[in-house]
Amino acid sequence: MAREITAKVLPQKLLLKNARLIDLLNKRDEVTDIIISDGKIDTIGKATTTVADTIDLKGKIVTHGLIDMHVHLREPGREDKETILTGCNAAMAGGFTAVACMPNTMPPIDTADTVHFIKSKAQNHLVDVYPVGCVSKKREGKELAEIGHLVEAGVVGISDDGDPVYNAEIMRRALEYVKMYRIPVIEHAEDKQLSNKGSMNEGFTSTRLGLRGIPNISEEVVVARDILLAEYTGSHVHIAHISTGGTVRLVREAKKRGVNVTCEVCPHHFTLTDAAVENYDTFAKMNPPLRESKDLEEIKRGLQDGTIDVIATDHAPHTVEDKECEFDQAAFGITGLETCIGIAFNDLVHKNVISLHSALEKMAIAPRKILNLPIPQLTPGSPANLSIIDPEKTWTYDVTRTCSKGVNTPYNGYTMKGKAFGVINKGKIFIEE
Ligand SMILES: [Zn+2]
Repeated sequence: MAREITAKVLPQKLLLKNARLIDLLNKRDEVTDIIISDGKIDTIGKATTTVADTIDLKGKIVTHGLIDMHVHLREPGREDKETILTGCNAAMAGGFTAVACMPNTMPPIDTADTVHFIKSKAQNHLVDVYPVGCVSKKREGKELAEIGHLVEAGVVGISDDGDPVYNAEIMRRALEYVKMYRIPVIEHAEDKQLSNKGSMNEGFTSTRLGLRGIPNISEEVVVARDILLAEYTGSHVHIAHISTGGTVRLVREAKKRGVNVTCEVCPHHFTLTDAAVENYDTFAKMNPPLRESKDLEEIKRGLQDGTIDVIATDHAPHTVEDKECEFDQAAFGITGLETCIGIAFNDLVHKNVISLHSALEKMAIAPRKILNLPIPQLTPGSPANLSIIDPEKTWTYDVTRTCSKGVNTPYNGYTMKGKAFGVINKGKIFIEE
């Protein structure tokens, strides 16, 4: 059962005391007080008066509201797996003020009506929900969706996620089309023939377990194709959930040539290897699959040198029935919204893989630049859209407390240093008790 949480309406005046304010846009990083009045940042600086509603944030970070640009909210169509409400609650508990949701719903997000439905359902929630529309009608890969109408209705990118854009000519047209709207085509890079109905990474472990493998090249072939098409059309392709060292090298080379390609990585692809599949654990089954140590090393290098722009979760809740079955029959995907900050801090920031500022940049600024969204400002007069993080808090993830309907995570019992503390957005506040 998803834990139910609700945001509170902000008091007319709220004082955040002793916060470490990190404003990446104005290169400001200092301990200070912040007064929020009527949902807006009022003053920043040592507070000289007392305010009835005060939260002491000593040791905690206040920064731009984080956004997860790759989540599956499952509504419409699979409300047994997640709803817009439970997904937004999981985002809020995980320290995000915004999500972009993928179009592989039922029906898929290929009409303006479905975009409006999602936006209206999310309207009163603290979390901003930005739908991603389909590249092709019904996500079938045969005919371009009515992209102009989708953009008008408010999509922030287009993708056939769950599947790749199979047809290179459709991909070319999609890239040409999105250019005028300054949004990306978001690609689930996978050649399904090369994946050959595999259920885990192709390698030593798959051979030993007797499971059919998905080779790295299945991802890289499509990444290479899309980079060439992005270069040819002069348009923007964003590669979702990259998993292999080869992809990092391809994107790095392309960026050097000036190709408009960006990419994201999920926390599981820099923390877990395919060894997690031992014991046929279906909570370690996702697509793309967990890879090998050498891929993780290259991904970390990609995070360091800026090849990888974004950390996103690919939050993919499933029912218990979809996961409690034979490994090769189980659904692909894991939940991710509530563990993302913890893993990013624990496994990247505290281990000096990337700096704190760089981690926040990849979760707050870069995704919004890619999706052409306004970046929450941390200056007086701006609407308060911010995430509060406790960087030193050590905690253990307990999936029985999840706000998502999905309990399919390999991180149950995982101990992390760094935790979401709360979020403020749209005149509302949520602080974890
Ligand atoms: Zn995908």
